[in-house]
Amino acid sequence: QTRSNMTKITVAKGDGIGPEIMDATLEIILAAGAEIETEEIEVGEKVYLTGNTSGIAPESWEVIQRNKIFLKAPITTPQGGGYKSLNVTTRKFLGLYSNVRPCMSLHPFVNTKHPVMDIVIVRENEEDLYAGIEHQQTDEVVQCLKLISRPGCEKIVRYAFEYAKQQNRKKVTCFTKDNIMKQTDGLFHQVFNEIAKEYPEIKNEHWIVDIGAAKVAGSPEEFDVLVMPNLYGDIISDIAAEITGSVGLGGSANIGEECAMFEAIHGTAPDIGGKNIANPSGLLQGAIMMLNHIGQTKVAEKIQNAWLATLEQGTHTSDIYTAGKSKTKVGTREFAKAVIANL
Ligand code: NAD
Repeated sequence: QTRSNMTKITVAKGDGIGPEIMDATLEIILAAGAEIETEEIEVGEKVYLTGNTSGIAPESWEVIQRNKIFLKAPITTPQGGGYKSLNVTTRKFLGLYSNVRPCMSLHPFVNTKHPVMDIVIVRENEEDLYAGIEHQQTDEVVQCLKLISRPGCEKIVRYAFEYAKQQNRKKVTCFTKDNIMKQTDGLFHQVFNEIAKEYPEIKNEHWIVDIGAAKVAGSPEEFDVLVMPNLYGDIISDIAAEITGSVGLGGSANIGEECAMFEAIHGTAPDIGGKNIANPSGLLQGAIMMLNHIGQTKVAEKIQNAWLATLEQGTHTSDIYTAGKSKTKVGTREFAKAVIANL
């Protein structure tokens, strides 16, 4: 039975490093006093291997829809064949149109070439090449449709400006490739220009995505909030998280009208799965965004401060362990214990 002040959330431990980073994350947020009750579902490879080719049981969809808040560890998606990405299906099924990915330097505690970096990537999450509309035209020709709609552009661009306004940020930058894809990316850019006019207090600019990506990698301090179509957002948020010090540091909020899903930016890291060396920070950042989303802002702040203190003390997982910066190299479980000790 749910106690009245508890928020029930769905939890999926996923594949690869998923179970380890989820256990660490839940241990930290419960120790901090998060008022949540978890309902666990099984998704991903294990479900697929039982013969369910979608990677998720129908009753699990019901649980996700009922609880509305979903904390999800990474799940395996086969490359170039096999079952469809469950991540993409979940985002579409729940109408999670906005994917918010903050990437911030933690200089001097985490080694980075970019000490001044505090950007938020707002990625469109349902359309573009990720709509999953692919055809075989002939034996030798295949096609993928790039789907961009005006309502889809309006929702995500407005979200980015509203986010900037609420978070007191100064600029929103749009990335597209509308010199080549004049209709699809052209529409995204056009809608950006229209909506930007409604926010005269926030600066706006547009970059062609290739040079924009190069600028993010070279001088991220010049950016604030970024908004872009799905594929570009996927790629650039991995780059952005990696240049803050590790892809293992970035969290991600997938927001819809009714439901929301929180996760890490990175994938299942099969190369290090089961070894107690993964960095749980990305999923922990996702969980902190979840707690803010459900109004548990005090506990979210307490966890964020304890996490920062842990990094400042030089207690680091091996992905960000660099001589001179880290004092102690720890495993996933030990990192979680150190965060808990700092709560
Ligand atoms: P990945 O992000 O899993 O790993 C890339 C590299 O980063 C690896 O060397 C890995 O060890 C390292 N890394 C990632 N997270 C880390 C962490 N927390 N701590 C330390 N090191 C970390 O990318 P990939 O190898 O391309 O993908 C593996 C699988 O994950 C694929 O099946 C892919 O489809 C899936 N994936 C899932 C999601 C999701 O569930 N949202 C997102 C991306 C990829």
